[in-house]
Amino acid sequence: MKTFLKTNITVKDICEGFVYNELEGKGLFGLSGKLTIQPEYQRNYIYASDGGKREAAVIESLLKGYPIGLIYFNKVSENNLEVLDGQQRITSVGRFVTDKFAIKDENGMEQYFGGMAKDKKAKIWETKLLIYECEGTESQIKEWFKTINIAGVPLNNQELLNAVYSGPFVTLGKEEFSNSQNANIQKWSAYVAGSANRQDFLERALDWVSRGNIGDYMSGHRFDKNITELKKYFNGVIDWVSSVFTDVESEMRGLEWGRLYETYHKKSYNLKKVSEEVQKLYGDPYVKNRKGIFEFILGGSTDTKLLDVRVFDDATKKSVYKKQTTKAEKKKISNCSLCALGHDANKKKIWKLDEMEADHVAAWSKGGKTTIKNCEMLCKTHNRAKGNR
Ligand SMILES: [Zn+2]
Repeated sequence: MKTFLKTNITVKDICEGFVYNELEGKGLFGLSGKLTIQPEYQRNYIYASDGGKREAAVIESLLKGYPIGLIYFNKVSENNLEVLDGQQRITSVGRFVTDKFAIKDENGMEQYFGGMAKDKKAKIWETKLLIYECEGTESQIKEWFKTINIAGVPLNNQELLNAVYSGPFVTLGKEEFSNSQNANIQKWSAYVAGSANRQDFLERALDWVSRGNIGDYMSGHRFDKNITELKKYFNGVIDWVSSVFTDVESEMRGLEWGRLYETYHKKSYNLKKVSEEVQKLYGDPYVKNRKGIFEFILGGSTDTKLLDVRVFDDATKKSVYKKQTTKAEKKKISNCSLCALGHDANKKKIWKLDEMEADHVAAWSKGGKTTIKNCEMLCKTHNRAKGNR
C-alpha cells in the first residue's frame, strides 16, 4: 500500500465547491469536486446532533489553532478521493463556511462565518489539515486502519468494506439495505439485528449470499450494475424463516439465519407442530437458551445442547448419590443401576460421587422435570451411552 502525507491542503481547498445536502443530512463534495466527503455508503452527518456542540467544537479548534486530528483519504482513481475518516469534521467545516450554523463568540453572541472579522475568516481558510492519502488493497487498508489510532468514531467493518469496494454495486446495495426509509426494514428487523444506517442489513445480506465471504463477494461484484442475486437470496432466507416460524419472537433477531437456511431449507416442516413446539419450549422454565429453540426444532428436536437445559444442582446430586449408595451397599450391588444389571466386574462396583453423573429418569425431552424426584446418578460410561433420549 502507498500512503502520502499531505500537509499543504487548506480548509479553503477542502471547502472549494462544498455541497451539503440538507435532505439527506450529509456533506457531499469538496476539493473542487475531486473529493467525495460522505459517499453513498457512509453514515450520515451526526455532528449537528446533541445541540451542535461537536460541530461548534471543530470550528473553535480552528480559531484557536488547535489541531483537529488526522484525516484519511482513500484514493479511488487519479481524480477521485473519498474520505475514509474525517467526514464529520470536514462536513462541520464546510457547513460553517457556508453559513449553515453559527458559533458563539466571546460575548456569547451568535456568529456566522459570513459575518466574521476578516482576520478570523482568514485564520479558518488558511488552516492546513493533516491528511493521509492511501492507495491499496482491502487487506492493506484494513491492516492500516487497525494499526493507527483513529480519532472519533471509527468505521465499522462493513463501512470499511463499502469504502474499499465502492462502486455501482455498493451504491445499489445501500439503496436497498441501508435506507431506513425502506418499508421492508421493519419486517427484516424481526430477524436481523442492528441498524440500516450502520450497514447491518447490508452486511447480513452479503454475509448470507456469500456464505460468510463478504470481501470476496464484494470484490467480485464491485462493478455489477444490479444486485439481483443479493436481493433474491436475502429475501429467500427471510421468506423461509417467516414461513417456517409463524410466530415472531424477539429471540429470533440476529440468529444465523443464512446458515440455518442453507442447512434446513430443503426439509419440510409441519407448521402447526412447529408453532406448538415453539410455544411449549417458550413455556418451559428449564430451557435457559431461548435463542437455541429455533435451531433445535429445525434439526428435529434432538440436540438439547442448543437449549442449555437446566442441569441438576450439586445438592440434588449429592443427596441422590447418598440414597442410592446406601441402598446399593445393603443389597451388595453397584450403586449404578445399569452396572448392577450387567454381568461384568462392575456389577458390584460402588462408584465415587465424582465418577457418576446425574441423569433424568424421565427424559427431559419427553417432559421429565429437572427435580430431585426425576434424578438418578449413573456411572459416566452408562450416562454417556444413553446420550440424548
Ligand atoms: Zn454404570
